[in-house]
Amino acid sequence: MLARRATRLFRLSSQTRHAQALNFSSTAAVQADFTHAVIGGGVVGLAIARQLSLQPGSSTVLIERHSAVGTETSSRNSEVIHAGIYYGKDSLKAKLCIRGKHLLYALCDKHGVPYRRTGKWLVAQNHAQREALERIHALCTQELGVPVRWVSGKEVDERGEGVLAAAGALESLTTGIVDSHSLMLCLQGLFEEASGVVALSSPVVGIRPLSSGGPSSSSSSSPPGSAGWEIDVSDGPGGDISTMTAETVVNAAGLGSVAVHNMIVPPAQRKQLFYAKGNYFSYSASRPKISRLIYPAPEPGASGLGTHLTLDLAGRIRFGPDVEWVDDPNDLTVNASRLQQAVAEIQKYLPGVDTSALVPDYAGMRPKLASKGAASATDKGFEDFIVRKEQGYEGWVNLLGIESPGLTSSLAIAEMVGRLLYGQANS
Ligand SMILES: Cc1cc2nc3c(=O)[nH]c(=O)nc-3n(C[C@H](O)[C@H](O)[C@H](O)COP(=O)(O)OP(=O)(O)OC[C@H]3O[C@@H](n4cnc5c(N)ncnc54)[C@H](O)[C@@H]3O)c2cc1C
Repeated sequence: MLARRATRLFRLSSQTRHAQALNFSSTAAVQADFTHAVIGGGVVGLAIARQLSLQPGSSTVLIERHSAVGTETSSRNSEVIHAGIYYGKDSLKAKLCIRGKHLLYALCDKHGVPYRRTGKWLVAQNHAQREALERIHALCTQELGVPVRWVSGKEVDERGEGVLAAAGALESLTTGIVDSHSLMLCLQGLFEEASGVVALSSPVVGIRPLSSGGPSSSSSSSPPGSAGWEIDVSDGPGGDISTMTAETVVNAAGLGSVAVHNMIVPPAQRKQLFYAKGNYFSYSASRPKISRLIYPAPEPGASGLGTHLTLDLAGRIRFGPDVEWVDDPNDLTVNASRLQQAVAEIQKYLPGVDTSALVPDYAGMRPKLASKGAASATDKGFEDFIVRKEQGYEGWVNLLGIESPGLTSSLAIAEMVGRLLYGQANS
């Protein structure tokens, strides 16, 4: 039903849209329904759709398979505005996180999205962890320009609220938390204000790049996508398929992004996605009362940042996420059997934790491009974000492996997509 409504909107839009000035050829695409189709209505797709809708004379559709935006990974995370302290300076994760953090704080201020600059302590309990903190300190101060400071033992004792940091604590001063739902509502509102179309309940089930003369084939001389893209959207199980056209397509489908990628590329270039679930446990006791985020020092080779303590905007404590490799991206039940392991991790830095007040809360799923991929840039097997115009095609920007810090990076990723399509920041 909603997909049919969206189809009507596509037709409406195609009657009213204007010619574009993209920096790639767009022969037959002049008749496309939309200038841009963004697949995936998570925080990243919303940020991109909003960014592209700022392009004068453009028309953008955001296509989401569920009946609301932001119901997958973007609403199942720690809601932390990361400072960008973990990744090497040349990685997209570092660049987009640091830029994204500044853009996010500014957007929150401008549009009243709730957030708090909590700061965060990274705590070390042994020599190896201390060395890990020293590497982060050097990276931040010498290469990234991200503010951090050592917290003295005396200060840990006086202001630590029961936190143990036997081998030292490093404070990240620009870390914060954000209300991710308000952020997504804000981005959706800004997008729709700029005449963007949100097509809900619209799973993309097929995509075909067009070249002059019709759907791309080996006999065609112009690159696939040079005449735009055909996108098939299902109207529910066994339902109709609606087809729309767009000059450009952005794959921001999160856990569905590899499936979308595989709809376009030949079999030899298909990819596989791996899933690392993160289980969270809520904490209902009023003591110890903690007012900042607490993270253990990163462990070499770990696929996450360690079972940490985060706060929501009401000051409630939750612990997580751990790392549990699973086969099914829809397996989002919290695995209660992992509580004992989480307790052991938490007690290392918060010995006074009341373990009877910990209960399974929710889980999120990390889209991993490699099995057991590591989290820190210095680790072997580190997987960076992929945000690129795919070679051999026109007008396709592909986003893969947008795990943490994707929420923090979302606005900077959107800027980057704008640059990839238009050659400059289009804000
Ligand atoms: C446990 C955990 C903790 C995290 N903590 C943080 C944190 O504290 N800070 C931070 O910065 N980042 C964090 N992240 C990362 C962050 O949550 C993600 O990077 C971010 O939410 C990704 O947004 P997205 O829009 O790419 O993906 P998603 O939110 O998954 O959105 C993708 C959308 O695409 C839609 N879709 C998929 N396939 C199709 C299709 N075929 N047709 C139509 N629609 C489709 C989906 O329904 C979904 O709505 C965390 C991630 C996890 C898993």
